[in-house]
Amino acid sequence: MIALAPLSFTCPKCGSTDVFYSCSPSCCFNHVCSRCYATFEPQTSRVGEFTGELGPIPEVDTTCPTAPCARCGEYRLFAVAGDSVPPDRVLCVSCRALLTLELIEAKGD
Ligand SMILES: [Zn+2]
Ligand SMILES: [Zn+2]
Repeated sequence: MIALAPLSFTCPKCGSTDVFYSCSPSCCFNHVCSRCYATFEPQTSRVGEFTGELGPIPEVDTTCPTAPCARCGEYRLFAVAGDSVPPDRVLCVSCRALLTLELIEAKGD
């Protein structure tokens, strides 16, 4: 059995977890740190496939951190915890890809 949790990002610059998503998926995945105003983008790589039972999928607010799936491009990704998955894995509930997530600092203008 696994548990899904909404994604939460830690600012790569100051370490704050007070990070919000300021744009919309049709545009870009830029996130902003509300402490130091650093901007960064999440990037995912596919590392496997989830084949077990999915528990209930949590509701997420649109300003919550999110990221695009490396395989299907959907952005219904959740942190996944459970015996059958290594720590720090992210699951795409649209295509069930298991992903790792990395934050890339956005380049200044
Ligand atoms: Zn910051
Ligand atoms: Zn996917």
